[in-house]
Amino acid sequence: MKFRITKRHILKFFKRLGAVVVGLILLFFLLNWFFPLPDYVEYSTIVTDNKGEVINAYLTSDQKWRMKTELEEISPLLRKTIIAKEDKYFYSHPGVNPFAVTRAFFKNLFRMKRTSGASTITMQVARALEPRKRNIISKTIEMFRAFQLELKYSKDEILQLYLNLVPYGGNIEGVKSASQLYFKKNPDHLSLAEITALSIIPNRPSSLVMGKNNDRIVEERNRWLKKFAADKVFSEKEIEDALAEPLTANRGVVPHYLPHLSYKLKRNGGDLISTNIDLNTQLKTEKMVEDYIRAQRLRNIKNAAIVIIDNKTHKVITYVGSSGFKDTVDGGQVNGANAVRQPGSTLKPLLYALCFDEGLLTPKAVLSDVAVNYQGYAPENYDEKFNGYVSVEYALEHSLNIPAVKSLKLLGHEKLIRKLVQCNFRQIQKDQKKLGLSMILGGCGTTLEELTALFSSFANNGKYIPPAYLQGDTNYHSSEVISPAANYMINEILSKVNRPDFPLNWSATERMPKIAWKTGTSYGRRDAWSIGYNKNYTVGVWVGNFSGIGVADLSGANVATPLLFKIFNTIDYDSDEEWFTQPDDCDIRQVCSETGMIPSEHCSSITTDYFIPLISPNQVCNNWQEVMVSPDEKISYCKSCAPASGYKKKWYKITEPDMQSWFEDNRITYQKIPPHNADCELIFKGNAPFITSPANGTEYLINKKSPDPLQLVCKTASDVSKVYWYINNKFYKTSNAGEKQFFVPDEGPVKISCTDDKGRNRDIKITVKYVNL
Ligand SMILES: [Zn+2]
Ligand SMILES: [Zn+2]
Repeated sequence: MKFRITKRHILKFFKRLGAVVVGLILLFFLLNWFFPLPDYVEYSTIVTDNKGEVINAYLTSDQKWRMKTELEEISPLLRKTIIAKEDKYFYSHPGVNPFAVTRAFFKNLFRMKRTSGASTITMQVARALEPRKRNIISKTIEMFRAFQLELKYSKDEILQLYLNLVPYGGNIEGVKSASQLYFKKNPDHLSLAEITALSIIPNRPSSLVMGKNNDRIVEERNRWLKKFAADKVFSEKEIEDALAEPLTANRGVVPHYLPHLSYKLKRNGGDLISTNIDLNTQLKTEKMVEDYIRAQRLRNIKNAAIVIIDNKTHKVITYVGSSGFKDTVDGGQVNGANAVRQPGSTLKPLLYALCFDEGLLTPKAVLSDVAVNYQGYAPENYDEKFNGYVSVEYALEHSLNIPAVKSLKLLGHEKLIRKLVQCNFRQIQKDQKKLGLSMILGGCGTTLEELTALFSSFANNGKYIPPAYLQGDTNYHSSEVISPAANYMINEILSKVNRPDFPLNWSATERMPKIAWKTGTSYGRRDAWSIGYNKNYTVGVWVGNFSGIGVADLSGANVATPLLFKIFNTIDYDSDEEWFTQPDDCDIRQVCSETGMIPSEHCSSITTDYFIPLISPNQVCNNWQEVMVSPDEKISYCKSCAPASGYKKKWYKITEPDMQSWFEDNRITYQKIPPHNADCELIFKGNAPFITSPANGTEYLINKKSPDPLQLVCKTASDVSKVYWYINNKFYKTSNAGEKQFFVPDEGPVKISCTDDKGRNRDIKITVKYVNL
């Protein structure tokens, strides 16, 4: 009987085939549901510089170099070569090549030979994700996984996974690790010869070792290149060039530049950390720091940190955390740029700028640099001397402490804290409730990163822009810290060359670009700071010891500024960049040089000063006062006690009691207003201050071991705003009427006097005994 294929048979066949296909698809989705694709890949964290070059990398947790190749790093050449070699039909098959599988199946069946060539790129990805022994079962699983991969990913993504997972010998996985370690470049820069050479390693990774078996690799490489020529994948010229290319590759090492910043940024996670580091500047700076600290070791100074910000882009282009990461003796792994340290005087420029903006001071405003005491806080200057009358400008240039503390008292330290919090000072934000006047002398915690970012705002018209560590940090949200006018005044003061803290023996000044800078030295000489800027760069320098040991020779001017200058001299060598220009909201006026106020007719010494119209103080100099005195100038009168005739009027320069006392201590003569008429009724009418504490004529017993201070309190007439306290005829303190003061008396009789601002005085006497209580 003859079997005839009828239409019915064909229809039946296709129906059955359709049912099988539908059944297989359903089965696939069911299996896909129960056995999801194990496609999590842990990559090595890599750190790149501003050009995208790998400058640091970390091993994966399974100790592999598995760097991720991004899609855009897969060049057309790389793609073309890999596909020509591994899987010609990659873009047309559904993960499994049915013809290749069928062929391999029959080969297996009849010749009992090991399957080969049937694996598509997709199946190789599946194998790399789940390595198994090669047998027919694992092959089947691989095919299933291949379908899953094709369902989930695009062809390009599958190729990317392939290129990221291929083993290239040793612990190297993926084409990026291989091209980095063997050729020191990114995969998109590989030549045809290099790609072909790399592509044959996975076949026999143990016998084809790059650097060891290069001749054999070249032989095999050329065999493939000739095959490409025969298949007409590449032009004759391309093949000719590739055949002629020598292979000198060797297994290199992964670079470990930028160790401190890399480690810090790595903690935020992610496979790729794209920094803005300029490797050239980074390496030059590291070298300078290393050489500099080597010389400083003789002085027992062992560490330093540097942060450099490009002021035009706000990018952090250099970051040095210590003088040597590998230095295990002196804690080279500690990140000095991110360590919380006391800032010394480095916050003073911000303080004075804020005072300019609040209309409290101008650069020529005069402050008295004499001993003060704020509720027991008695700051001293660095050299433990006082300078009498000084301008703000002088006080900042010489980094005097008393005028800074006075200015902070004037401004209110909360305002300074608010600005610092605005500029991301984290420790200050944490400690803000605990901070007081001493913060301006370094009694707070800051980092070099924070200080450098703050100073970069001085190069940016007073606007703070968070420094960009990563290429993705392009959200430049700026906020005004100080006005352009106040900023300009600070720039002018900080850029003067004839400063006391100009580095000694600095010979290369002719090459040195103009910069503005401020130094700082912390308590106990533990930290030396110098932070400088011009239009191009802000450079922050910290020098000290991670052990926290203070060194007598250590100061911002002696130790940190020379390094700052060296760095500017190198990175901004012969820069012709112009200096900051005076902004429109900053003007110039004439002021009395004795007070910095608008000159009156009595002011004889006039100077020019910057000011902010409508904001800067506008009072006329009140340095002089007309006083009624007796003809011999020995008695002064007020309106109520001046005789009808027989007196004269005379102009006197006013000297505040604290300055009088300083003049007397320093034996400097000054013009004194004669004592007030002893017969003046006002004084005897009881309008002089009434001292309520201590009590007149009382004996006070004070604990020898821990003497408690006595309170000074007085009641005053309603026309009084200030009173002056004297202890044993020596000026002690100015205070507001009604404000409490404290002092610790010496043993014996103590005379306490209180004079109000109208010249009325009261004396009391107490006796003090020190006892063991
Ligand atoms: Zn004056
Ligand atoms: Zn009088």
